[in-house]
Amino acid sequence: MAEKLVFLGMGGTLAGTATSAGDNVGYTAAQVGVQDLLASVPGLKSVMGGFEAVSEQVCQIDSKDLAHTDWRALLGRVSHHLARPEVAGVVVTHGTDTLEEAAYFLSCTVPAELLRHKPVVLTCAMRPASSLTPDGPGNMADAAAVALCRQARGVMVVCAGKIHSAAHVQKVHPYRTDAFDSGEAGPVGLVEEGRVRLLWDWPEVTNSLCNLDSAALQSDAWPRVELLLSHAGATGAVVRALLKPDSNEAPLRGIVLAGTGNGTIHKSMEAALLEAQAQGIRVVRVSRCAYGTVVGSSPTDRSGTFASAGLSGVKARIALMLEIASQT
Ligand code: ASP
Repeated sequence: MAEKLVFLGMGGTLAGTATSAGDNVGYTAAQVGVQDLLASVPGLKSVMGGFEAVSEQVCQIDSKDLAHTDWRALLGRVSHHLARPEVAGVVVTHGTDTLEEAAYFLSCTVPAELLRHKPVVLTCAMRPASSLTPDGPGNMADAAAVALCRQARGVMVVCAGKIHSAAHVQKVHPYRTDAFDSGEAGPVGLVEEGRVRLLWDWPEVTNSLCNLDSAALQSDAWPRVELLLSHAGATGAVVRALLKPDSNEAPLRGIVLAGTGNGTIHKSMEAALLEAQAQGIRVVRVSRCAYGTVVGSSPTDRSGTFASAGLSGVKARIALMLEIASQT
């Protein structure tokens, strides 16, 4: 019988402090432990409705600096807690900068049998814990309300009263507290006065994208996949530089190219990408546009030379990395 809700701390602005309570930008992220953050959540007891809040610090980091090994640690703790019968779900407190990446990574890697009946809800803040008007405590309360919904499943992000699926969420603003958007799909639902109002069904849980036991994911150097952008004046120089062996870096395995418009690529850059592909590097094309995905084959790619993914660039990078890791 589920009776606990687990809060896993990863750091971020939500756990940040500034020297002045009026300063919402000049702070240091990842200073306050998740247990102390929980103590600052207003009305937590009533949101928890008899469930016990259990907390664990997994990392204490500014999420812009996260490494793949931090994701592996997070995945391990999320999977561990979800597998416990007494746990109803997991809330992860996380920095906003790479929140959508962590959410997408977990949605691909947490075993589907664990996610089908229990949710993982990531939450965050745009203002530090020391702010006169912090947004973190309210977001944590909302995340708990979502995680304790009976039918909730899959991986979601809760911020500023909106519930986003891991598949669609992206950070769209560097400052305002409502910093996330689900693009054309829209949010899964809303949290109003602690109550969840669903607009769509809970996110679909599909089978994991990758083989977690693969040696490639157990090692510290995951398959190296770089993310590049095409733009006016682009050349092949960056691609060719990546192809040169570098003793300090793992060998390049893939490139995700965020192309202009419908995934089009500057012809100079495209020539270099074709060279990369001929050398065995996987090249995946996405659109750099904020909304939509690459439709059909683009004018510079009539032969379907590069695969395209219906994902944002940062998520396509994770998908390609996991796919390569699973095959290794
Ligand atoms: N740099 C911070 C982080 O991602 C930003 C935030 O949390 O809002 O950890």
